[in-house]
Amino acid sequence: MKIGIMGAMHEEIKLITQKIHLHKTSTIGKRTYYEGELMGNDVVVVFSHWGKVAATLTVTTLINSFNVDKIIFTGVAGAISCSLNIGDIVVGKSLFQHDMNCSPILDRYEIPLMKSNKIDSSKFEIEQAYVAAKSLLEKDFGFYFPKNDVDKFNIKNPKVVIGDIASGDEFVSDEKTRNRIIKDLPSVVCVEMEGAAVAQVCNDFDIPFVIIRTISDSANNDSRVNFSLFIEKIASIYSLGIIENILKVKNSLPSLQEN
Ligand code: SAH
Repeated sequence: MKIGIMGAMHEEIKLITQKIHLHKTSTIGKRTYYEGELMGNDVVVVFSHWGKVAATLTVTTLINSFNVDKIIFTGVAGAISCSLNIGDIVVGKSLFQHDMNCSPILDRYEIPLMKSNKIDSSKFEIEQAYVAAKSLLEKDFGFYFPKNDVDKFNIKNPKVVIGDIASGDEFVSDEKTRNRIIKDLPSVVCVEMEGAAVAQVCNDFDIPFVIIRTISDSANNDSRVNFSLFIEKIASIYSLGIIENILKVKNSLPSLQEN
């Protein structure tokens, strides 16, 4: 089993590559792919770059050139659901493309030739990621995050939810787009720029996948965090912690059967 690990942030990839026992690096299409071993698992780690096209190129290369058997994607996202706060984690259930619009030929948001407006993540990977993220937030939080850093971002009792995610080639920071997504795609809890592209490619190649997102903003004008500090102090460490826990969970939870 070879696991493809994609990160939407350069900093989180850097942190993960520092932990792996590196065998080889290769550069394809301006991305560096790090092949090695992490906690006894064969992994290929790569920075996805931002947006659907960039993520598509990266995930396709992971599948076709590196023959990975599954994909774990981590990154940050803007909250759409008002019950999500900065520092919460979303494990993607179904992935929508909020900028897809072939109407009137197809229904608004329908993905061409898929007869659906969403792609479901793999059940087993969702469950594994949920357990891993919950453990990070509930058991290991104090170990990974100094109180000082957590207070800086006003993170209190962060939680993990399994919910739908919408992707599009747009950093959502205005109420108009946010409200359209809330109205048209009511099950969506957060918004980002890569997940649904990864989902579509994995679906076409029959590769199990999961998208994991840390909430970094509220997809509107009024929630400003110091983005680069948040990535460095919180989001990157979340990603590493979740990945490490997934690999631990994988080895220690035989009750979770792969489907
Ligand atoms: N401008 C930032 C980095 C770009 S953010 C900087 O100064 O460093 C782009 C990344 O954040 C993408 O991976 C995207 O998926 C994610 N993201 C976070 N919040 C988002 C939002 N509100 N809308 C869309 N994408 C978001």
